[in-house]
Amino acid sequence: MTTDISIVIPVFNEEDNLKELVSRCLNVCNKMDKSFEIILVDDGSTDRSAEIIARTARENSGKVIGIFFNRNYGQHAAVTAGFKESIGDTVITLDADLQNPPEEIPKLVEQIDTGYDVVGSIRTPREDSLFRRAASSLVNKIVQKSTGVRMKDYGCMLRAYRRQVVDAVLQCHERSSFIPVLANRFARNTTEVQVAHARRTAGESKYSLWKLINLQFDLLTSMTTFPLRLLSFLGIFISGTGFALGGYIIMMRFIHGSDWAVGGVFTLFAILFIFIGALFVGMGLLGEYLGRVYDDVRARPRFFVHHVIGRSQSKE
Ligand code: UDP
Ligand code: MG
Repeated sequence: MTTDISIVIPVFNEEDNLKELVSRCLNVCNKMDKSFEIILVDDGSTDRSAEIIARTARENSGKVIGIFFNRNYGQHAAVTAGFKESIGDTVITLDADLQNPPEEIPKLVEQIDTGYDVVGSIRTPREDSLFRRAASSLVNKIVQKSTGVRMKDYGCMLRAYRRQVVDAVLQCHERSSFIPVLANRFARNTTEVQVAHARRTAGESKYSLWKLINLQFDLLTSMTTFPLRLLSFLGIFISGTGFALGGYIIMMRFIHGSDWAVGGVFTLFAILFIFIGALFVGMGLLGEYLGRVYDDVRARPRFFVHHVIGRSQSKE
């Protein structure tokens, strides 16, 4: 059995938004003339969210599906669980806080139907604090640089993915994944549409400054092992300087005698510099191996075939 559209929504303590969220989603989907399922993933909420989801799922059996975590695992874990459960040809992710209006979903579906694999969205105008916007723009720049995929707004979770991209994301075994970035690896063509953005009306943002900083670290380390390589470069540079300085001091010691070297103190420094240099090179090397181990542990698919042309009949 398949469905046209799956909508995956992570929910963490959103009791005040759920009712409106579900009714607006159902409204939009019913108008779309496509089969659909709405998957609400309760990320270990401590308020009445789980209860509300359970009731909604029972009332709209077949259309609304509830998934319940035993505790809080984070938004992206919740989305991954939703992906696993979903059967739609197109999978949409959406936040539960109604900051991104569900009414924009048809816009995204339209783009997928024209052949895009991933459709992102740009929040215009963005209703978040200045600090959030500034941080977000910095992160977007870094992500663009290190993934090479030019998407303007990675932070916005109102996105659409083609089934095969979702399946590829599910094949990745890494722990801390940031889905929009991961998904883009498996997309051949991506686009972005402009969507409206509203202020959060009920509940509060689940991302404290600390959580945001953590997320950025996750993002950076999940995308690239470049920081490790940086350690190697730094090590080579420091050890080079250390060796040079050590050599210089020893040379000066022989030219100017032990008085110049304050009776061996400088020589001791020279040896120290050389050792520190060697230490950094060693750390850099360790880093290189660690990077490889990390790549292997993540076990991302080594390649991803987008499509095949020319086979006369399908293999099944
Ligand atoms: N969320 C979640 N688990 C968490 C934190 C957040 O499932 O640990 C959900 C939350 O319910 C919402 C979405 O992720 O649907 C985005 O969270 P929020 O609106 O607080 O983030 P912001 O809009 O401030 O970036
Ligand atoms: Mg929000």
